[in-house]
Amino acid sequence: WSSHDFPWTKELEVNNKKVFGNHSFRPNQREVINATMSGSDVFVLMPTGGGKSLTYQLPALICHGITLVISPLVSLIQDQIMHLLQANIPAAYLSANMEWTEQQEILRELNSDYCKYKLLYVTPEKVVKSDNLLRHLENLHFRELLARIVIDEAHCVSQWGHDFRPDYQGLGILKQKFPNTPVLALTATATASVKEDVVQALGLVNCIVFRQSFNRPNLWYSVVPKTKKCLEDIDKFIRENHFDECGIIYCLSRMDCEKVASNLQECGHKCAFYHGSMDPAQRAFVQQQWSKDEINIICATVAFGMGINKPDVRFVIHHSLPKSIEGYHQECGRAGRDGQRSSCVLYYNYSDYIRFKLMLSQGAIEQSPMVSGHNRSNMINPGSILETNTENLMRMVSYCENNVDCRRLLQLVHFGEKFNSSTCHKTCDNCLKITNFIEKDVTEIAKQLVELVKLTGQRFSSSHILEVYRGSFSQMVKKNRHEKVSLHGAGKHLAKGEASRILHHLVVEDILVEEVKKSDYYGSISSILKVNELKVCNLFAGHRIILRFPSSVK
Ligand code: ADP
Repeated sequence: WSSHDFPWTKELEVNNKKVFGNHSFRPNQREVINATMSGSDVFVLMPTGGGKSLTYQLPALICHGITLVISPLVSLIQDQIMHLLQANIPAAYLSANMEWTEQQEILRELNSDYCKYKLLYVTPEKVVKSDNLLRHLENLHFRELLARIVIDEAHCVSQWGHDFRPDYQGLGILKQKFPNTPVLALTATATASVKEDVVQALGLVNCIVFRQSFNRPNLWYSVVPKTKKCLEDIDKFIRENHFDECGIIYCLSRMDCEKVASNLQECGHKCAFYHGSMDPAQRAFVQQQWSKDEINIICATVAFGMGINKPDVRFVIHHSLPKSIEGYHQECGRAGRDGQRSSCVLYYNYSDYIRFKLMLSQGAIEQSPMVSGHNRSNMINPGSILETNTENLMRMVSYCENNVDCRRLLQLVHFGEKFNSSTCHKTCDNCLKITNFIEKDVTEIAKQLVELVKLTGQRFSSSHILEVYRGSFSQMVKKNRHEKVSLHGAGKHLAKGEASRILHHLVVEDILVEEVKKSDYYGSISSILKVNELKVCNLFAGHRIILRFPSSVK
């Protein structure tokens, strides 16, 4: 596909320079364009900032007819249209929240013999819910004017992905109605299973897949223990490393966003918050201030981000646990789009996992924005979604608890990519601090911890179990007479943090389960550890648990 000998090669080169102002193609751009212009269905995995838009905008310019682009966010669409119009490429969009007369005008233009548009952007709900639009597309197709269908952010089709949107699932109808029109599916994030899911749901045929490394060498990753001083730590980190530079701080809840923002403001940072409860005008205002560098830092939920094109974001901080590795990778990906060194720091503690788990079960997690205003209650199977979300979250916990392996490797493995951690060149915390590690068989300790959970009646939290195991005589231990339990103090010899890492590993492995609930009294969260009998038998049937520990820390 990289060959220069396609009938359109010359025209591509010329227009890439003349219209888009690019001197060359970026990796895979030429290949993707050649594949889609040859009429194949194509699936493209390209990291954020890789240049996905050009792979359909350039063909749209050259080909006869109209390219239909399905994109999830109106703000994203408006941004694209603005750029296209600046380059004198006629484009329009249709969305449900547009004036009816405006919509009619665009539809009328589509019907006309000499339709001027080269690209028509629509939101997925428009395709799924508007028979009127489908009729117009059929009409275009009949007149051989439907050149190509582009599905942007295609991972939203999949329930296994981190950003599932119900309307995307209905997009399979396009391939049914227009089987011979080439489809180009684009995403910056998809695991092998998400990719399969997307290909299936969209009904792509003999699809050609392009994927390139998801490694971002200019991003420096670290996971830092989150303590009570977290806000002070964040202030210090920014002051020492990125003062007056641009960054995003991702928070779990709306309240957290406001708290973190006001705290940093008091410390003298130019900072604002952004979340789903603000009205759209307020949100747009904050985003604009940030784009124009009037403020440096945005404290936001994941509602902020998709389609952010700011090239000089120097840091992305996670104040709380991200919901999945995919989500984390994408959120970090908003840093350093200009290729300059940027930091990605994640503040982690295990109790955030418990808080997150409760919010998941209550459906209280803010998602990235939805165009259609749908909530997730109309999902196909809420039970399985909760299960997927919980599994994604567990993987994230496992990532954070890992204090040995290269962070890049851990992320890229998730995307099915092979990565040699020596090429990390000490740009993640683990590679930086670990000169060597030892592998330790912790099966016996694991068995003791499981036993202790049982001995204490499966009614206590993980931190209480750890206290008893490490031989504490705290009030709570004595009140429950747990200093009398046979395994009290059995883990006294273990280094600090070692027992908790093993216990958390048992939770990640689903051998122990955190049962989280809101306590009736003060609304505070309580969680108790239970034993998963289905899994625990493996532990006693000869299955060994080997964990890596740093053997020397610089
Ligand atoms: P993505 O959608 O993959 O995140 P975009 O399509 O928004 O990326 O492109 C990111 C930036 O790279 C844009 O500013 C775009 O103009 C620029 N770009 C894309 N292709 C090229 C190229 N071949 N040469 C130079 N700049 C490019």
